[in-house]
Amino acid sequence: MYDFILIGGGILGMSTAMQLQQRYPDKRILLLEKESGPAQHQTGHNSGVIHAGVYYTPGSLKARFCLEGNRRMKAFCDEQQVKYDVCGKLLVATNDLEMQRMQALWERTEANGLEREWLSADALREREPNITGIGAIFVPSSGIVNYAQVTEAMARVFQQQGGEIRYGQAVNALLETQQEVRVSTEQETFTTRYLISCSGLMADRVVRMLGLKPEFTICPFRGEYYLLPEQHNQIVNHLIYPIPDPSMPFLGVHLTRMIDGTTTVGPNAVLALKREGYRKSDISPRDMLQMFTNPGIVKVLLKNLRPGLVEMKNSLFKSAYLEEVRKYCPSITLQDLKPYPAGVRAQAVSRDGKLIDDFLFINTRRTVNVCNAPSPAATSSLPIGEHIVNQVSELLAD
Ligand SMILES: Cc1cc2nc3c(=O)[nH]c(=O)nc-3n(C[C@H](O)[C@H](O)[C@H](O)COP(=O)(O)OP(=O)(O)OC[C@H]3O[C@@H](n4cnc5c(N)ncnc54)[C@H](O)[C@@H]3O)c2cc1C
Repeated sequence: MYDFILIGGGILGMSTAMQLQQRYPDKRILLLEKESGPAQHQTGHNSGVIHAGVYYTPGSLKARFCLEGNRRMKAFCDEQQVKYDVCGKLLVATNDLEMQRMQALWERTEANGLEREWLSADALREREPNITGIGAIFVPSSGIVNYAQVTEAMARVFQQQGGEIRYGQAVNALLETQQEVRVSTEQETFTTRYLISCSGLMADRVVRMLGLKPEFTICPFRGEYYLLPEQHNQIVNHLIYPIPDPSMPFLGVHLTRMIDGTTTVGPNAVLALKREGYRKSDISPRDMLQMFTNPGIVKVLLKNLRPGLVEMKNSLFKSAYLEEVRKYCPSITLQDLKPYPAGVRAQAVSRDGKLIDDFLFINTRRTVNVCNAPSPAATSSLPIGEHIVNQVSELLAD
């Protein structure tokens, strides 16, 4: 019998496992991951940005955990010798409407307690000669890292403290009783006193295995990127983001300096027809059936028909995608957009048709389940892990 079993070897599962073993050094802890190694899904397919906490509703878990996560992520990387770079970020306005939205973001960053600087068009040009805009917000604390490397470091620490990881173990059934939780994979059945699920794109399915009928469903959104050719590695000095449309949940196509020295453009946000499908051609009849018969998802799609179709057009036509980035970086050409692997976001949608904005957890007597952990959850992974450990401690005390 284990004391704790975790499902999911992404950054949230590993962060939680590591901190749980630190808090309870004598407990037997097992992490089960269905893939052959850590960070194979969202954690290994993202922009690698250590977010500062610009966008999030003041007082939300996202706002709190991102600010704290930014600081703790850098400290963890220092401690574990994982390479990162605090290159800073610019949010660039290119027209009057964006200027108004930038003002609103400026106020939000104030409420979120961020250090930042308002840049005029001239000051922007001085910092970024290849970027065109009528103004920008500079946020110095944003950085870049490889989250797969961070997750590997967390896994190492967890194992050094006595934690156990088993890869290639897809959990397919759960049974919670008064005394324990039975966790079955294709190969074997384990028992544990408490279970923690950090299963990303499969979060709702794991909750259903417990016999619950959750109020949310995971809707997968593919984020497609392009890589700029090597001669453009220095095209920007900072991360360059557009001013987002506040009615949209995603941040818009940005120019991201990656920690390996390359620069990417992206990601967009298109509905994925397979939860773990990274190519446009990936389709799962099961996933599609679940999506298109789910009233919440159908409502979201109908409500966002126009932006959804624009995203689809940008996905299908490289020239349309290019226009998104040329708004603020006009020197990029079609030939500059080289193929790069996509990611798939796990976005929870409520039954009444809303994209759930904040991080969401559902607990039972013996389980804690992460149900919505989109960006900036990688940045926030240390405080989220600590939050879960605190929730588990409360269950233990009951
Ligand atoms: C395109 C994109 C860009 C992003 N950019 C950023 C960014 O720049 N900064 C940032 O902070 N965040 C970013 N994010 C968000 C961030 O990547 C995620 O929030 C974070 O990785 C979530 O981690 P996770 O551990 O919850 O999920 P995952 O990394 O998806 O891990 C879940 C794991 O659970 C496993 N699993 C699922 N079901 C089972 C089962 N039944 N049995 C066993 N194992 C199972 C999966 O195989 C997977 O390994 C981005 C995400 C995407 C997709």
